[in-house]
Amino acid sequence: MQWETVIGLEIHTQLATQSKIFSGASTAFGAPPNTQACAIDLGLPGVLPVLNAEAVRLAVRFGKAIGAEVAPRSVFARKNYFYPDLPKGYQISQYELPIVGEGRVEIVLGDAAVKSIGVTRAHLEEDAGKSLHEENLAGGGYTGIDLNRAGTPLLEIVSEPDMRTPQEAVAYARKIHQLVRWIGISDGNMQEGSFRVDANVSVRPLGQTRFGTRTEIKNLNSFRFIERAIQFEVERQIDVIEGGGTVVQETRLYDPERDETRPMRSKEEANDYRYFPDPDLLPVEIDVAFIVDAVADLPELPDSMRERFHTQYGLGEYDASLLTAGRELAQYFEAVVQATAEPKLAANWVNGELAAALNRSEIEIARSPVSAAMLAGLIHRIQDGTVSGKLAKQVFEAMWSGEGDADSVIQARGLRQITDSGELEALIAAIVAANPGQVEQYRAGKDKVFGFFVGQVMKESKGKANPQQVNEILMRVLASD
Ligand code: ADP
Ligand code: MG
Repeated sequence: MQWETVIGLEIHTQLATQSKIFSGASTAFGAPPNTQACAIDLGLPGVLPVLNAEAVRLAVRFGKAIGAEVAPRSVFARKNYFYPDLPKGYQISQYELPIVGEGRVEIVLGDAAVKSIGVTRAHLEEDAGKSLHEENLAGGGYTGIDLNRAGTPLLEIVSEPDMRTPQEAVAYARKIHQLVRWIGISDGNMQEGSFRVDANVSVRPLGQTRFGTRTEIKNLNSFRFIERAIQFEVERQIDVIEGGGTVVQETRLYDPERDETRPMRSKEEANDYRYFPDPDLLPVEIDVAFIVDAVADLPELPDSMRERFHTQYGLGEYDASLLTAGRELAQYFEAVVQATAEPKLAANWVNGELAAALNRSEIEIARSPVSAAMLAGLIHRIQDGTVSGKLAKQVFEAMWSGEGDADSVIQARGLRQITDSGELEALIAAIVAANPGQVEQYRAGKDKVFGFFVGQVMKESKGKANPQQVNEILMRVLASD
């Protein structure tokens, strides 16, 4: 039996506001427990929530960035449940009337195919607090509650069940991550919990139109875990069905240490939450002026930029998508192109040497020791033949480790390519004279020996001889008399 996987993601991204969604308490990360939770976050009696307009503005930016309708009127609802980290006994969220309606994003797959994924909705809500199950808390055996996170603004982005492989799910999650950072609505910091993914997963026999029963894997906080957790869950569900059982709709947790998912609780239905409009908050009414203002400084979006890199610079879809993975990277690339008018070469260097070096050193493009101007300088020296492509890699490494710009490195390390034909002729004449045996072999028809001579010239010149000229001179010299 052939199985098809169906995946839909719910992504919680923390909005980059200074203060909480309904109170003035700070949202800064890392403060000592319970120092940033005020009476409103604690749900003390007699206080009223006041909506933070900045959170609304950021949600609107997201809506417009995915081509969605921004609701002129949206409503906050109470989602009731009991949990130690939820002091009010309900979470303020949006249910029937979310602020952002249907939109779409594009993902680029490994084979450079572009797939469009539907976004069902995005709604504003507050985060809950955090339970700390620490071994030695207060002598052991206790769970601590930190309410600093309670009331932090979140945008929950719900996708259509449009993904068919774990890789597509990761590509979509990366896309949303890229986008929220690109438009400046979230720092997307996954270690700090600013970007958390719930994966809904089901399987069905290939060709069946009805969806299978899904499970939901909660709180995945790395792209690798998203892929691993879904992969495990797909295999588990297929095993269950092929073993004659049925998949139970439930919420599961992924354990990275054992690389498996485990049941957490049976799935609650919407009516378990007894949603109702929050009487403490007015409906959110947004007029055109508010929307215009919220999107006024939206930068060119990644999809449009990717498409432009493709058409304007003639780059492949895959290269273009790598270069638009982040806004700083895209800007860096364009700065190099502007200075060199060599988009292909620039793309190769940015996606090649530079990306590898950034990866190795685990730093972001903004902190690259090789600036766009420096890389452009190196590309100029490749263009004008001062260094060969091979030596250019050495120059790049030297720039990376702080030896200065391309010209200084080439000068200091003597990496200038030898293009002086007199110098090359002399070098080659000496090598030919020193290897009469090989000359004879070559003239007797052993073409392979040509490579031996090229190797000798490169060795003698420490890789600096201009390869094209070496070829030409060698051809001529070996063919003569
Ligand atoms: P709930 O409100 O119970 O969480 P939703 O209908 O809002 O349920 O769906 C939540 C997420 O689950 C969405 O991202 C949706 O695309 C996804 N989803 C729904 N049905 C399935 C299914 N059968 N298989 C995989 N994902 C699904
Ligand atoms: Mg849901």
